[in-house]
Amino acid sequence: MPHLSRRITSLNDGGSDGWEVFYRARQMIAAGTPVTELTIGEHDIRTDPSILDAMDRAAKAGHTGYAMVPGIAPLRAEVAQRITDRTGTPTTSDNILITPGGQAALFAAHIALLQPGETALYIDPYYATYPGTIRAASGIAVAVPTRARDAFYPDAEQIRAAARQHGAKTLLINTPNNPTGTVYPPEILQAIAQVCIEEDLWLISDEVYDTQIWEGAHLSPRSLPGMAERTFVVGSMSKSHAMTGSRIGWICAPEAAIPALIDLATVTTYGVPGYIQDAALYALQQGAPLEDTVAAPFKRRRALALDILSKQDTVTAIPSQGAMYVMLDIRKTGLSGRAFAESLLDAHHIATMPGESFGTSSAGHLRVALTVDDDALAQALTTLCHHAESLIP
Ligand code: PMP
Repeated sequence: MPHLSRRITSLNDGGSDGWEVFYRARQMIAAGTPVTELTIGEHDIRTDPSILDAMDRAAKAGHTGYAMVPGIAPLRAEVAQRITDRTGTPTTSDNILITPGGQAALFAAHIALLQPGETALYIDPYYATYPGTIRAASGIAVAVPTRARDAFYPDAEQIRAAARQHGAKTLLINTPNNPTGTVYPPEILQAIAQVCIEEDLWLISDEVYDTQIWEGAHLSPRSLPGMAERTFVVGSMSKSHAMTGSRIGWICAPEAAIPALIDLATVTTYGVPGYIQDAALYALQQGAPLEDTVAAPFKRRRALALDILSKQDTVTAIPSQGAMYVMLDIRKTGLSGRAFAESLLDAHHIATMPGESFGTSSAGHLRVALTVDDDALAQALTTLCHHAESLIP
């Protein structure tokens, strides 16, 4: 056949996609071997039945045709109000584009901000799709490393140096963070904002975990002085409302950018199904109580995980304050994250994500998703710790 474009054949930069352990676990399950899966960020509960009822009502009322490409007016207004209420930054419907999930928003943001060949910075460790998303937008993906001993917090001066070295156009950050579970402290976000202003960078702020904070508070960097005009916020209902399969999220951007984003949506997604948007509107109107119900299991399990880990000192947790993950340092075993994850899967049928799947900074770590019931999690983590101890040379 004729050649595929280099843009898509190089999405993973010729390397692995980092999901080998996950796929192998799925193969074992398909072959009938039970596996405790602590891999992907998927809730163990399903979308609340009241949200499904709203979806059903909307579909049966006929909202099954093409929906407005920017999003239905009441949903854009509700998202804008939510952002205004939570961040104190005045936001209107004209700042909002409804997208089929946060991933589509990440892609649209990079397409909107990068000329082909321009550099986009992102922080390592990172959510697995980030570099591929940048490359799909014909950008050059450059990771800014962090260190385990700094809880993987980014260093603003390192971002500045990378921005200067590569003439970067954008910076992508994510707090609360996947894979580390950290929440960036205000002083780090302020320093990053300062660098964005001084180095004339666009900031793409992935805030899809903004309802999952166990310590401290979420600070949206768009609310910092001078940042609303250079920040695209990526939002999603996947994590906040257990609506991963509904594919619904948004971009909050400067008003002047929205018409171009609507043009892009017109030639890519052509909008989000109307009945999904109606269900999302219903879900957002339920406010914090529904979000707290969805977040509660992760808060509880994070405490449970830290308690189990505190009883031994072979495996240590990166101090985490949010999201549905804990990041574990297994370097005392002398194994790589990948080798440890493979051996844990083989020996105990427990699947975790190797830190190497999320970049080089988190080598020798494992990401554990807190997405199984409390008893199964406790048992898996206890086994994981014993396995680590048994490997100590
Ligand atoms: N950003 C981060 C950090 C994520 O973890 C995810 C999903 N795991 C997404 C974006 C995309 O989420 P969705 O497309 O389901 O909204």
